[in-house]
This record gives sequence, C-alpha cells and structure tokens, in this order.
Amino acid sequence: MIRSAAPTPEIRPRSRSISRRNWLASIAGTAGLALAPRFTAATPAASASRPAPFINHCHIAAKKFGRDTSGRPHVGTVGDLQETLADAGVAGAVVFAPFVAQEGRDPNEWLVHTLASHPNLVGFAAIDPKHPDAARRVRDCAAMKLKGIKIHPPVMKTALNDPACRPFFAAAEELRLPVVCHTGAHGWYLKHYLPLLLDDIARDHPKLPILIEHVGGMALFDQALSVLMNHKQTTYAGYTMETGPTGRFPESGLRAEQIRTLRDVAGPARIVYGHGYPWNSDNRRALRDDLAEIRAWGLPAEETDLVLGGNLRRLIGG
Ligand SMILES: [Zn+2]
Repeated sequence: MIRSAAPTPEIRPRSRSISRRNWLASIAGTAGLALAPRFTAATPAASASRPAPFINHCHIAAKKFGRDTSGRPHVGTVGDLQETLADAGVAGAVVFAPFVAQEGRDPNEWLVHTLASHPNLVGFAAIDPKHPDAARRVRDCAAMKLKGIKIHPPVMKTALNDPACRPFFAAAEELRLPVVCHTGAHGWYLKHYLPLLLDDIARDHPKLPILIEHVGGMALFDQALSVLMNHKQTTYAGYTMETGPTGRFPESGLRAEQIRTLRDVAGPARIVYGHGYPWNSDNRRALRDDLAEIRAWGLPAEETDLVLGGNLRRLIGG
C-alpha cells in the first residue's frame, strides 16, 4: 500500500473511548461469531501449541518511510520490521523489494543483500511487468532465491491487460513464482487494474499462483471474488489491511459482510494474511489487532493457521 488519505475504515471505532476489546467484540459480533475465550488474554501471540504466524505483504527500504505516526525512528527498515514481528509473536514474513533503487543498488539485489542476515524473512521481487526486460528479470530474481513477485499496477503505471506484460506472466508461471497484485482504488485509471482483468491472466496462465491483494477493496470486492470463484486452483485472497482500528484506508478495507462472504466462498485455505507494513498509522498495534481479529473468526485452529501462514508457506514451497 502506498497511500496518503486519512483513514476511517467503516468498522473501526470512531472514538478513542472504544476499547480494543470492545472493538474486537464488535467485529466478532458483526461477523456473527462469539469472541473466542483464548482471545480475552492480553498476549497477542499464538497459543503455545500452535505454529507462530508467518505473514505476507511487508515493504522495507534502507531508510524510514511509510505512514506510521507512533514515533519510532526507523519504521520501514528491516530492523523495525523484525521488532514489529517479534512484538506480535510472528515468526517471519514475506518482504517485498522497494520499487526504486536503494543505496545505489538495484532494489531486488538490495533486498537479497539485506535479507541475507535475516533467515526468517523471505524476499519477493518487485518487477514492472511491462518492462521489455521483465521476463529476464523474473528469471534473475528466481536465481537469487526470491520466491515471488509483487506488482503494483497503479504505482507502476502498468495496465494488467497490456500485451507487453505477457512474457512476464509466462516467465513467472514457468517458474511457479506467485505474483502478488495490488487491487483496489489507488489513483490512476481504474480500468487498467480492475480485479476482473486478473481473470484473463489466470486463464492464460493456468499454473500461475496469483494473490489478489486487498481483495479489490470494498468497492471492487465483487470483481475480486468472482475471479476467486472462477480460478479455484491458482488464485488467493490477499487479506491485507482489510480492517482494524489503527489507521486503515476506507476504500481498501472490506465491510464485515464482505469478510464473511470471503470466508464462506473462498474459504480459509485460500486466504493469505498480509500486514501492509509500514503503511499503518501504528504498525505494531495494527499487527496485533489483525491477528486478534482473524483469531476471533471462530475457525478451527488448523484453519486459522492456514490464514496466518500455512497457505503462504505452501505457496513459496516452505
Ligand atoms: Zn503493498
């Protein structure tokens, strides 16, 4: 996520007087679920018998960036990310390469270099699919052990149905590298990155795993859902920044009814939690709250584990 608008998600408490627990109870209530007893504990970590979460959709860069207003000095760097993960009892994360060069290095090479001393972090490349060299870049990134690719059509100014993108998708499919695609209103021409365009890509590349980030947001959710329904073997819902009390974007978050529908239609085996680091106004609190929200869905523990890392680990072969 790269945003600047003031956040007012629909199911976020509008007053600071609403406690976190009441907010969680309201989420569980609107979803027709009882608040699970284990969830009343103060600790945000998984219970001792469950695997610690492994989460998607974290951006890092060499210097501070993002929109965290909690006052920590190095938000957006790998060190702050690690502290954020540890604070929430998260074992590791998929980390996206920056979209621009860092410290004089190509962003994908910089990511590989940076993650070399962080074995709990898995790197995904950032590649513009329309670039004439995109297919070669895909192969280079795979050779560098990057395990997937993040694309952001409105930031990259790339139309998903531009024929120039085809070699990129073919190369990613050949290598079975998951492509994580931003969906949802984010400036630029909506027609160039409607979630429905992913239907063509999934059809043309039937072995390419596609993560539909933000599931279209509340305004384009139905399009994203229809793609999930049409390609059950290869498409996944990227459940990233969908709700929460800590600074989210109203146009990207899902309504409680949409979250229920997503659980029912896609099912927990096709939902992949992502944090959207560092684009939350308080990243540490957002991560704790997200984990709490998902644990309050009332799923069997094994299914919660899928959403909080099992699906993602399977996708990257780990
Ligand atoms: Zn992102």
